[in-house]
Amino acid sequence: MNLENKVALITGSTRGIGNSIARLFLENNAKVVICGSTKENAEKAVTKMREELNLTDDNIMGIGLNMKDNSSMKSSVDEVINKWERIDVLVNNAGITSNVSLLDSTDEQFMEMFQINFFGVVSLTREVVKHMKETGGSIINTSSMVGTYGSRNQAAYASSKFAINGLTKSLAKELGMYNIRVNAVAPGVVATDMMNIVTEEMKQGLLRMTPLNKMAEPTDLAGAYLYLASDLSKFTTGTIIQVDGGLVM
Ligand code: NAD
Repeated sequence: MNLENKVALITGSTRGIGNSIARLFLENNAKVVICGSTKENAEKAVTKMREELNLTDDNIMGIGLNMKDNSSMKSSVDEVINKWERIDVLVNNAGITSNVSLLDSTDEQFMEMFQINFFGVVSLTREVVKHMKETGGSIINTSSMVGTYGSRNQAAYASSKFAINGLTKSLAKELGMYNIRVNAVAPGVVATDMMNIVTEEMKQGLLRMTPLNKMAEPTDLAGAYLYLASDLSKFTTGTIIQVDGGLVM
């Protein structure tokens, strides 16, 4: 799949799933904006990717984009527009999780979860759409299987992903008139830093329920994003693609 001439901004792309998406997009000739919560983190990831894939500055750039700070979204987007003049693909992938019961949780924890996983996404998407509506494009949100099925001791996280699913379908209806497609990918269990909160016993339990019998690597997810970013999915909008090895069906 060729993403030639497409500019893709991927949040949370210094590591984990986002980094794998960035790599696959670069291998398919996209121009990629690596986003870290600080500029320094982004630059480190850019240097590493540049060395590994033998890239030039025309393929890759790094920006600081903190999902806690809605007021910085416009300047982050402007940095990309100043360099490449367009954003064709937005991957809203950055996120946090938590494992805490309702009774042990605080309002502040719920608010932080929603700020990073939802309100930051809304704010960034608005800034990107101001430009994307001139060219059309593809917005891909990272949801989660728990955004459809819920999860014990993860009410804040699961609720934020339910909200992402609602945003995905609503914006698909609203932005289709600009030829902007809006879809989501819902991973199951993926071996990234995020899984550090899950106990070995829980992991084994999840594995037993997964027909494909393994925990996904980030690279197992990236193909779904490539499809949604490319013109092969040009008539697909408002969908949530589950990529979970059959864990829930
Ligand atoms: P990860 O922890 O490796 O990556 C999370 C990314 O989000 C990192 O790059 C981190 O820097 C970034 N991030 C966190 N807070 C941020 C902030 N305030 N501002 C900017 N960036 C911030 O985990 P991952 O598994 O790669 O997670 C990526 C996405 O996948 C998340 O949205 C997560 O909810 C989703 N997901 C993961 C799993 C899994 O099993 N790992 C399952 C379902 C969904």
